[in-house]
Amino acid sequence: MTDTPNPAASSARAVGVGNRYKAYSISWNLTQRCNLFCAHCYMSAFSHADSSNEFTTQECFRVMDEIAEINPDVFLILTGGEPLIRKDIFDLAAYGTDKGFTVVLGTNGVLLREKEARAMRRSGIQGASISLDSTDAKKHDEFRKLPHSFRDAVRATQILKAEGLDFSLHMSVMPWNVSEIPAMIDLARALGAKVLNFFFLVQTGRGAEIADIKPEQYEEMLTYLAKAQGVGQAAGRADGLGSVFDQPEDPWTMPAGRSGELILRAKCAPHFRRIIYQLDPESSLLKNYAQGSCPAGKYYCRISPNGDVTPCPYMPVAAGNLRQQSFAEIWRSAPALNDLRDPKLGGRCGECEFSEICGGCRCRAYAAYGDYLAEDPACGYQPGAYGGRRIALPQEQTFGLEVTMTLAWSEGAKERLKRLPSFARGMVARSVERYAGEQGITQITPEVMRVVREQAEVRLGRRFNFSEFSREAPALKQGDA
Ligand code: SF4
Ligand code: SF4
Repeated sequence: MTDTPNPAASSARAVGVGNRYKAYSISWNLTQRCNLFCAHCYMSAFSHADSSNEFTTQECFRVMDEIAEINPDVFLILTGGEPLIRKDIFDLAAYGTDKGFTVVLGTNGVLLREKEARAMRRSGIQGASISLDSTDAKKHDEFRKLPHSFRDAVRATQILKAEGLDFSLHMSVMPWNVSEIPAMIDLARALGAKVLNFFFLVQTGRGAEIADIKPEQYEEMLTYLAKAQGVGQAAGRADGLGSVFDQPEDPWTMPAGRSGELILRAKCAPHFRRIIYQLDPESSLLKNYAQGSCPAGKYYCRISPNGDVTPCPYMPVAAGNLRQQSFAEIWRSAPALNDLRDPKLGGRCGECEFSEICGGCRCRAYAAYGDYLAEDPACGYQPGAYGGRRIALPQEQTFGLEVTMTLAWSEGAKERLKRLPSFARGMVARSVERYAGEQGITQITPEVMRVVREQAEVRLGRRFNFSEFSREAPALKQGDA
């Protein structure tokens, strides 16, 4: 025996690891150009950013072909900089839609008028996320460095609504606006947002110059957000916030299609799941991907304007470049992605009982310590309080499972399953088959799925239907060419 490393064997091992993971969601920063100059921008975007190295339309088409090899149902977020600055944005969206992708737009909303909203719908874009950092127009404008950017973002939400397109709001949480979270929830409800995402700061790009909130403030805010969704409380008793928050987040609600409901999400604060668990280990908000909370590098990645693939938008470490390698090659074998798939975490995250359902933010660790496997400095938890044993999710709470059908499924039932977001299908298939097994049912039909859905509605206290997940573009309105 010899200890000499065998490069062929280690590369085969890496490919093996890569094959176990699927890119369910990809953020594509199509340009560094932006009409705003926000103080926290991880892209350091600005209006005259060099665009000479941006991927051309044809290169983008080629990359989408390559992405489809890994996941033909991918959830593709086209963003920037400001993606509406790219003249080919709707051609790119239409190409992705034609391939079967679910395409959404991440925009600051300033350039979004009726014409753009119509083009979004025609190109199959399913919705947009609009950024608002304050409920005070002046503070938002000062932070984003453009007068009237608040007014324009709000106008964009109204235009999207009128066009029948869903939108989510994104708020980046920082020390200066952390106290505005309750007011932002009210504003999102008033505007008719489907989802309000709270992004917690990662100090990268221009954001490196901004102070983050302290671990105690994270603890306080994340506990507030969990309770605002009824975690750890009886349904309908959402801390005085009103019944809209009674419902937990679950895969069924991802593209929520009804008015009067708002889903809250904490983004890039994986220890939210530890806090939810501490409030209620049975909470359906814990539903998550296998192998840890943050999907970066495992189920999610980012493409930069010049074609670098990174595990997430806030991570400046490139796994490879799409001018040198195909997307599939990078996805399956890049060390920077594989390191995050079976991570050997350091510090408190390495010792933590919650490392599987949380695992900390790898970008925040990188920004703080130059090591993406180090502990997450935003979390104040001291491992050991739960006895040191790793806490794992049961399969019915795990996204990203392969669809395994052990019973017979009718064509109609398979069709219904296909309408779900791809990351949720395996989990739903298992729930449906478990119910069928308990009832002695041998064939899964749409009727069986309906019963399981209704039981979930009773359990979760809300109604939903399978058409919520249709990937078909909304119907054209009169007057659309
Ligand atoms: S590594 Fe951190 S910033 Fe990146 S997606 Fe995960 S939680 Fe968010
Ligand atoms: S110590 Fe790390 S793994 Fe544990 S809860 Fe905090 S961030 Fe998550």
